[in-house]
Amino acid sequence: MSVSRFAPSPTGRLHLGHAYSAVLGRRAAATWRVRLEDLDPTRSRPEFVDGILEDLAWLGLAADGDLLVQSRRLRLYADALEQLRGEGLVYPCFCTRADIAASLTAPHGDAASGYPGTCRGLADDPARRSSTPHSWRLDSGKALDLAGQPSWTEVDGRIFVARPHQIGDAILARKDAPASYHLACVVDDAASDVTLVVRGQDLRLSTPVQRLLQLLLGLREPTYLHHRLVTHDDGRRLAKRDQAPTLAAMRAAGMDGPALAEALAKDCLPSGFRFASA
Ligand code: GLU
Repeated sequence: MSVSRFAPSPTGRLHLGHAYSAVLGRRAAATWRVRLEDLDPTRSRPEFVDGILEDLAWLGLAADGDLLVQSRRLRLYADALEQLRGEGLVYPCFCTRADIAASLTAPHGDAASGYPGTCRGLADDPARRSSTPHSWRLDSGKALDLAGQPSWTEVDGRIFVARPHQIGDAILARKDAPASYHLACVVDDAASDVTLVVRGQDLRLSTPVQRLLQLLLGLREPTYLHHRLVTHDDGRRLAKRDQAPTLAAMRAAGMDGPALAEALAKDCLPSGFRFASA
């Protein structure tokens, strides 16, 4: 049985691009779950949770099963991190953003990977760990040696092979959040038996590291549908800070939610918007 999910972050109101994603996911799978990705303490806000649920109800999209809320599932992410730690695949990183920026602009900095590897290979220092805020990073070199090169399948049959530079030593737990998006996403997709991940093309960059984590943690492999992004007519991306394309603004302007969902399912966008070229 096919299972898909819609996983918004409550960091703003939903816009037309989210509606497109939700409609495609709902139509593509027999079971469709909604998950709130609310682990970012600086950007998530409870008032957006209600707004998101209202927007989905307005579109006429009903989720199957209970709403899954990541901030209530921290134990599962901690267990997954512990599993990787037990295998020596993660390391604590004490760098600040400023440290990383400075070392990437240094003459021998490795700007391509986004992280210069400063803390990889440091001897474990439990005293420092207990006294200093730190994140946990994937040791991508070791992980790739163990799991091999990840690949994934799009729903149209295209197969993508992850390149090592697309993975890098991704953060799996942050200084201020007990699990990163990547870690929580793969744990939850597996826990919800997701067979089809439907999300925007911008998140295709996340798929290499997420597939690697699935291999390392022994989690099932879903198929992916990375859909085109919706933009303004002039090609500008929809941003959560824009008012115009929010579903709340469309509802306030008198638009019919189920009719919009029906149109989106046929790839028809309201005037003023278009699909970004792939
Ligand atoms: N929470 C992410 C977002 O709102 C989506 C994550 C996903 O679908 O994998 O952009």
